[in-house]
Amino acid sequence: MDRWQTIVEPFRIHSVEPIHLSTVAERDRALRAAGWNLFNLHARDVLIDLLTDSGTGAMSRDQWAAIQHGDESYAGSPSWYAFLESVQALFPFRHVIPTHQGRAAEKILFSTIGGPGRVIPNNTHFDTTRANVEFSGAEAVDLVIPEGRVPSALHPFKGNLDVAALERLLAARGDDVPVVFVTITNNFGGGQPVSLGNLHAVRAVCDRYAKPLFLDACRFAENAWFIREREPGQSGRPIPEIVREIASLADGMTMSAKKDGLANIGGWPAMNDDVLAEQCRNILILTEGFVTYGGLAGRDLEAIAQGLREVVDEDYLRYRIRSTAYLGEALDAAGIPVVKPFGGHAIYLDARALLPHVPPLAYPGQALAVALYREGGIRGCEIGTVMFGRRPDGREEPAAMDLVRLAIPRRTYTQSHIDYVIEVVRWVAERAGELRGLRIVQQPAVLRHFGARFEPLP
Ligand SMILES: *Cc1c(COP(=O)(O)O)cnc(C)c1O
Repeated sequence: MDRWQTIVEPFRIHSVEPIHLSTVAERDRALRAAGWNLFNLHARDVLIDLLTDSGTGAMSRDQWAAIQHGDESYAGSPSWYAFLESVQALFPFRHVIPTHQGRAAEKILFSTIGGPGRVIPNNTHFDTTRANVEFSGAEAVDLVIPEGRVPSALHPFKGNLDVAALERLLAARGDDVPVVFVTITNNFGGGQPVSLGNLHAVRAVCDRYAKPLFLDACRFAENAWFIREREPGQSGRPIPEIVREIASLADGMTMSAKKDGLANIGGWPAMNDDVLAEQCRNILILTEGFVTYGGLAGRDLEAIAQGLREVVDEDYLRYRIRSTAYLGEALDAAGIPVVKPFGGHAIYLDARALLPHVPPLAYPGQALAVALYREGGIRGCEIGTVMFGRRPDGREEPAAMDLVRLAIPRRTYTQSHIDYVIEVVRWVAERAGELRGLRIVQQPAVLRHFGARFEPLP
C-alpha cells in the first residue's frame, strides 16, 4: 500500500450509529447545564467524541460473534479459559486476574503493595493509577526522561523512564519501593512509546535492587508497533514477538482491555508471584467476583479474547498509528502547537502555548476544550492543571503541562470525520486570543476533573 497516500481503513462499515448534528446554540445550553465540564455533557450533544479512546472503539464482526459464545457459568466458564489463553499468548504471566476495568486492577494491586511510607515510581502515572497509589497512602513519582516533559522536544521514545533517576530513587529509598512501573505507551506524557532498550535497562536496575517490574500495558500493541518502526534492529519483527519480549522483562502488569483489548469493558492484573496473586485474589472476591470472571460477564471475556488477537494485526496497527499522525500532521502544518512526535492514540494540543494570555491557574486546557466543543461539537479532554493541579495537601499549583487530548476511538471515525476536526481546531486556534479562562466553583475530593463545575472568568 506504500504507493498511495490515502489511509485506507482496513475494514468497512457493517452497522452504523447516527450522530446528532447539534448547533452552537444547543451546545451553549449544554455547556451551561454541564458547569462547563465536558464530562457532564449528555453524549448525544457531542458531534465527534474524542474524550477518550477507552472502551469507545468499535468491535469487529468476529468479536460480536464471540459474544454469542459467552458462557455465563459462575466458575470455570469456557469463556474464562478462552480469555486466559489469549492473554497468556501475549503475556505469559502465571496468574491472570480478571477485573471490570484497569483501575480495579490498580486498586487491587496497590491495596496489597501500596500504603503509607511507600513510593511507586513510573514513567508517568495515569490519573487513576496516581489516585489509587495515593489513596493507599503511598507516594506516586513520575520519572519520565526530561524530553518527555517538553511538548515540542523530539525523541523517538519520549515515554522512556529516566534510568539514572530511578537508580537514584532506589539508592536513596530502596526499602520504600515495592514495585517499579512503566506505562506503555506513556498516556499522560502524550501517548509516547517506551523503547525495548529502555525496558531492558529498567529491568537491569530492578534486578540490581531486587525490585519487581510491572507494566501498565494498556497500549502495548501501539507501543510494539512504534518499537518495530523506530528502534534499530526491530523492523519487520512480528508484533506478538515484540510483545512477548516486553512481557518477558516484567514480573507483572495491569491492563485496561478498553484500550488495546479492543473491548468496551474489562481489564486484569497479572503477575508471577504466587503470594501476591493470592492476596490479590482475596480482594478480587471481595470487590469484583469469583476468580474465573472477576468483574466481567462471560461474553465480555470472549470479546477481549478475540480483541487481543485482532489488535496485534499489522494492517490494523499501521492504519491506527498512521491515522492518528494524519490529524497531528495537519494541525502541525497549520502552526498549531501539538505534542511531538505524535503519540499512538491521541493528539495533544499545547493549550499553554496556544493561550499564553490564560495563566495555568485559569485552566487554559479547559478553556480550549470548552471552545472546541462550543464551536464544533468536538469533545476533547483537558490534561493539565484541572486534572493534576491540586496536590494531596489541597494546595493548587500549575501542572507540568496544560494539554487538550484529542483521543481517537479505535476503528470508529473515518477520515472525513477527522478532516472536520482539523477544520474546527484551526478555526478555534485562529481565534485563540479571544478565549477566556475559567474558575472552579465546585469540586469533588478526588479525581476532581470528572466532577468539577466551572464558570467562565469575566
Ligand atoms: C485507561 C488507563 C488506565 C485505567 O484503565 P480503566 O479501564 O479506565 O480503569 C490505566 N492506565 C492507563 C495508562 C490508561 O490509559
